Amino acid sequence: MGEPKPDSDSEPVQVECPACGHANLYWGKRDGDLVIEHFGRRCQGLVDDPDRPSKVTGGQRGAASGAYNQPGAASGAYNQPGAASGAHKKQCEFRFRFKVCDECGAENDIAARRCHGCEKLLVDADDKLKDALKLKDAKVLRVSGMQLEATTNGRGLPRLKVTYHDEDGTHLAEWFALETPAQRRAFYAAFLRYHLRAPGGKWQPRSAEEVVAEQRRLRHPDFVVGRKVGRHFQIRDKLFDYAGRYRKAVEAG
Ligand SMILES: [Zn+2]
Ligand SMILES: [Zn+2]
Repeated sequence: MGEPKPDSDSEPVQVECPACGHANLYWGKRDGDLVIEHFGRRCQGLVDDPDRPSKVTGGQRGAASGAYNQPGAASGAYNQPGAASGAHKKQCEFRFRFKVCDECGAENDIAARRCHGCEKLLVDADDKLKDALKLKDAKVLRVSGMQLEATTNGRGLPRLKVTYHDEDGTHLAEWFALETPAQRRAFYAAFLRYHLRAPGGKWQPRSAEEVVAEQRRLRHPDFVVGRKVGRHFQIRDKLFDYAGRYRKAVEAG
């Protein structure tokens, strides 16, 4: 696992990669048989590298293997014993936890400073907070709790309402529909994949009630940034896995 144990009640848990099927071993937590949380970031599995087919002749292979020693390999991706077998393998690209590049949309490691897709510097979480705190029409919540509610909107349609609470009592909410497959895909992309405590699993809630009933699977962000649009605030950014210089909220309850 290579990572320090995140807290005292963590234990090694097995997490299957949804992309390549590799059984990863990460620090995590169980609730009965269910892996309720894990701290894995990128799949450790090795997959065939389509850019580097294994049918290389002697001279070319020598040249190719040299590439494994490039500085880019410092990520550990190419330092795998699999390369010795002759088949060119690379580390599976699937990331359980990631931050998305605002420029090109690539998923990067949560600690990355530069995007591996477009090479641009990734916006630092502290800079995002600092910029938002300067704005008069922005609200920054230091999130101490998240409340989920299966309710209806003004037109009587079923909706999931998610409310984020700051320590000082301010709050911001967002709403999701889960009626159609398209709405559920949007819910996954905008909410679920960031909020799952054990990302990469097969859980696909089909209603707001199901999300509320299974809220033990979800985590809240460390910070939420809202901007005023007309008379209301809209959530613009949610910061997870925050490790900067601002203090995080003391956990509620
Ligand atoms: Zn994988
Ligand atoms: Zn990028």
